[in-house]
Amino acid sequence: MPGTLKWILALLLLGLVLGVIRFAPRADGSDVTVNTWANLIEQTEALGLPTRFLKEIDPDFVTVAFEDLRTYAAEYHPEEHRMILNLRLSFNKAGGALMDLDRMTHHDISLLYHELLHAYLDYIFHGSDPVALRPQSRQVLAVAQEQMRCHYRFVRITPIRQRRETTEMRFLSKDDAWEVLNETWAVFVGWQIWTKLEQHREGKGVGPWTEPLLDEWKALLAKANTSGALLGYYEPDDPEERQVARKRFIAPYNGLTPKGARLLLDLVLEEPDEVVKAAGTVIKDTQDVTAEQLPCE
Ligand SMILES: [Zn+2]
Repeated sequence: MPGTLKWILALLLLGLVLGVIRFAPRADGSDVTVNTWANLIEQTEALGLPTRFLKEIDPDFVTVAFEDLRTYAAEYHPEEHRMILNLRLSFNKAGGALMDLDRMTHHDISLLYHELLHAYLDYIFHGSDPVALRPQSRQVLAVAQEQMRCHYRFVRITPIRQRRETTEMRFLSKDDAWEVLNETWAVFVGWQIWTKLEQHREGKGVGPWTEPLLDEWKALLAKANTSGALLGYYEPDDPEERQVARKRFIAPYNGLTPKGARLLLDLVLEEPDEVVKAAGTVIKDTQDVTAEQLPCE
């Protein structure tokens, strides 16, 4: 009997030690990541916002940290797969956990989604074996690669952002093309989340589409696409170009494509077919087709 008791005690102790190891916060802050990520998915779901693309990302791939950012609600650093959220987005501004999303401004939530799309694209490009991705993500990856080879590689830029009719041509590095695609798509995702939250500002979270909401949304999308609000940008790799301008804005001709808008609304933002189709039509009708088409790589 005492022998058995010893074994039981030893096993209990072992379990205790393993438990401590398992639940001890890791020095690199990854416990913040896992908790924040799970909490984010739970909260965005409760607000009726899209989460499927977030579930694709392995939380171990992205590090989430809260920091005292000066201007932005969030930043994403692809070189270290790191998402930094402004301290003001943390519970009690303490940097330990995410604050309740229904207490954030629509602007902050949309910026958060902008960065989440960066995290998603980083993951499907660099964090996962493409074969292991869900079919939807494989499709997003394929379209992204196709558009980087062509639409976002040999581009027109606007040296002066406000003068959209004055353009210059650039053949971008692969990294810069990736950045333009990333920013263009993230800007659109942020715009879509902000617009929907504003359209449903009376309720708690996002509700179903109605005819008047859809009509209003189509008009807003047409306006955004013609005003330049959906245009992407990049920070040039080339040091000489970088001396001239830290940021280069893409001309409307190389803006969001109807195919890109449909893809994001369907596979990332989980919108119904009607909305996906409508977006394709609106972007097509309002895109700049005046310039001569540039050849592909
Ligand atoms: Zn961005």
